Parts: sequence; C-alpha cells; structure tokens
Amino acid sequence: MTLTEKILARAAGKTQVQAGDNVWVKADVLMTHDVCGPGTIGVFRREFGENAQVWDRNKIVIIPDHYIFTADSKSNRNVDILREFVKEQQVEYFYDVIDDPNGHWVFDATQGQLRRQYGSNFAGVCHTALPQKGHTRPGEILFGTDSHTCMAGAFNEFATGIGNTDAGFVMGTGRLLLKVPETMHFRLEGKLQPGVMAKDVILHCIGEIGFDGATYRAMQFDGPAATHLCMDDRMTIANMAIEAGGKNGIFGFDAQTQAYVDYRCKLNGTKATYEPVERDHEEKFVYELVVDLSKLEPLVACHPDPGQRKLAKELNHIRLDRAYIGSCTGGKTSDFLDFARVIRGKHVAIDTFGVPATPEIVRDLQAARWGDKTVWQILVEAGVQMTENASCAACLGGPTDTFGRMNTPMKCISATNRNFPGRMGHRESQVFLASPMTVAASAITGKITDPREFLS
Ligand code: SF4
Repeated sequence: MTLTEKILARAAGKTQVQAGDNVWVKADVLMTHDVCGPGTIGVFRREFGENAQVWDRNKIVIIPDHYIFTADSKSNRNVDILREFVKEQQVEYFYDVIDDPNGHWVFDATQGQLRRQYGSNFAGVCHTALPQKGHTRPGEILFGTDSHTCMAGAFNEFATGIGNTDAGFVMGTGRLLLKVPETMHFRLEGKLQPGVMAKDVILHCIGEIGFDGATYRAMQFDGPAATHLCMDDRMTIANMAIEAGGKNGIFGFDAQTQAYVDYRCKLNGTKATYEPVERDHEEKFVYELVVDLSKLEPLVACHPDPGQRKLAKELNHIRLDRAYIGSCTGGKTSDFLDFARVIRGKHVAIDTFGVPATPEIVRDLQAARWGDKTVWQILVEAGVQMTENASCAACLGGPTDTFGRMNTPMKCISATNRNFPGRMGHRESQVFLASPMTVAASAITGKITDPREFLS
C-alpha cells in the first residue's frame, strides 16, 4: 500500500485497502475557519438538532483567519458566531481574534492596516497555524473546511479539504465516507540550486501534469531530495497538491518530521502520541515522475491557472503593477527570509505587500537581526508594506478594504498558491505565481525577473 492507503486502512479499521474502495474513516482532527465555520455549524445544527453536542470537543480546531482585518460587518460577525459556538460546545481549541470570550470582534479601520489588532490567542492562517499549534501528527486524518488543508500532508498525515456538509457530518459523528484515491508518485532527487525554491518544485510538478492532472488522486513526494527539504519546504509543496486537483499531498516520516511535531505538541500541550506510516515495496502508483531538483530553474505559473508554467527568465517582458508575499504557502518565516535576502539594500519599484501567515512569523521577523537591523526593518526600508495583521488578506481577494487586494485590473506577481481569474480581487486582474525570491526580484525591477540576477 502507498502512504495514503496505509493511513486510510488504519482509520477504517482494515488491514488492507486499495484505490477505489469506499471506506468509513475516523477523523483525528476537524478544522474550520471563519468563512466555512458558520455554514458548517448550520449544517451540524440542522442535521443533528439544536441541542446536539459535537462528537469530540477536543478534536475540533477553529481558526478565524480569512476575512478578519476588514470593516465588513458580516465578516466580523462570522468570528462572533464561532465564539458563541465554542462557548456553547466547550470546544477546546479556538484561536480567537480577541481575548474577551464574551466580546465582539470589530476591526477598527481608523488604526490603518499595518498595526496589530489581534489578541494573544490569535493564530493566523489556519494551515500554517495548525502545525505551529501542535495539531498536525503523522499517521492521522485531518479534515478541514478549506482546500489547502492538504498542506498538513507534509507531516506524513492524510489531510484533505471537505465541504460544509461533510464537515457538519464529521462534527456530529467523527466519521466520513471516503473513496481511496489512486496515488501519483513524485520522486525528488538532486539538490536545489541557489535562487530555486520549493515553490519551483511544485510549480514544475503541476506544470507537468496540468491543473487538473491529479484530480482525486494522492500526490506522494519522496526520494532522497525530499528528506533534505526542511518542513517549511515540504509544506509549500504539499499545500499546492490541490492546485493540480489532488485529494491530498503526502511526504514520508523522518527525524525532521519527528523533531518538529514533538516540539510543537510539547510546546502547546497537545496530544503527543502518533503512529507514522512508512513506505513498503508493494506500492501501486498510477503515475511516476522523477524530478531532478538540480536541473530546475525559477518558474512562474502565468494567468489564468497554476498549471501555466514558464521560466521566469523568459517572462522579462511582462511589466507588473504589484508584488505580494504572504499566505499559507508563501508567508512562512523561511519564505520572508529568502525574500529579504534578495531585496536587502535595494528598493521596490512597484507596490509590494507583505503579509506574514501567523503572529509567530511576525515575531520571528521582528526579532531576527541582520547587522544592526531586524529583517522586518530591512523589508520596510526597502519599501515593502509589511502588516502585523497576519491573515489570508488578499490571497483570496476578500472585501474591498482587504490589505493588498486588487480592486482594479492589474498584474501582480505573488508568492500565493492560486491564480484563477478574480482570485486576488478584480476579475480582470492577472496573478503570476512564483517563489518568494522571484517575487522579490520582480518587485525590484517592476517586471518578471529571475532572482538569480540578484544573487552574487
Ligand atoms: S492564505 Fe490563501 S490559500 Fe491559504 S488558507 Fe488563506 S485564502 Fe486559503
């Protein structure tokens, strides 16, 4: 069995499953957020009754993160709905925007978008917050009401996005009927060259198979190079499995996974036991691709979908209006550090927005010192508009006052993960997906630029 099949078999109480089997699996964690949480709660109440109790209050994780720093009253109200539900159900893990359990969330637009407006429990973007807060464990099943839930596959678990109806059912029963997906195999070899990042690896894979090439399939990433990728890089790759239509993305378990998970579970006092799955010799794959990382070059996925892969160096004629670094995929500490390595000592030529994925990342960047300046200061001095309000921000467009949102047709290079028309705001805008380094180089020149031009 493949890694995915092994996890599903165990969660279904079976010794063996194969692609195409329909199995009932037990959930280990159900995650929801401010956009889908209210809908999920509505389904749960409708189907299980107004007085029903959730299946396990310790296995539900609620993370408001999408439309938070906006004056839109309906978006603010969504956070209040989550808080009321958490109080009623005594849900254990709720990363509220405010500290007052009886309060109401209201974004104060008069303070501007840059200064922190959240309390001490706020965790930022759900997929980055889940591992930081100790909710991702090898061998487990994570369901989330968000398509990029697949990011947690970096931790050797089966993680997938589900809709509100399924999530309402899981909330009431802790179980879900799943068809076991076929597995596609991506064997990673070689070493990334300077200027090339994990984002380029996944843009390459999606470019090979197309933006629907993995529809309802597991994408298994392994091979010698996979073990050399840090956890942030594995997260970037697993995150974008859905951009090829994948049901999930998954990595093997190793010492790095163990160190990360053990540290985070201990730090946060979350469940510390887990059972990883390992590869065996009887894996059946429907597709195999060997990727030599040493041969990859900086890539860009052009408008209008993540499969439109081209070499950054061949797109130098495309002038840009905006650059954006942020999101679960591209707003991690390591992403910002690589971005800053290119941009340090220079100045951006176009509007450039920086949105760290979580408050912890804000703190990292404000604490990391390069010489006599923090990385945060270096970015601000280079002209990057850095917000402390960690969230999804313009990755998903959002209300018109969302930080970095494109409210007019424009061209943006972005470290995010999705570029379908209208994704970051205006329907006629164009989004070019790239690595944080390529975004940095392009922000400096105002046109799509290979970051190796800036590396000595
Ligand atoms: S940062 Fe973007 S991709 Fe990630 S959860 Fe938020 S909206 Fe989705």
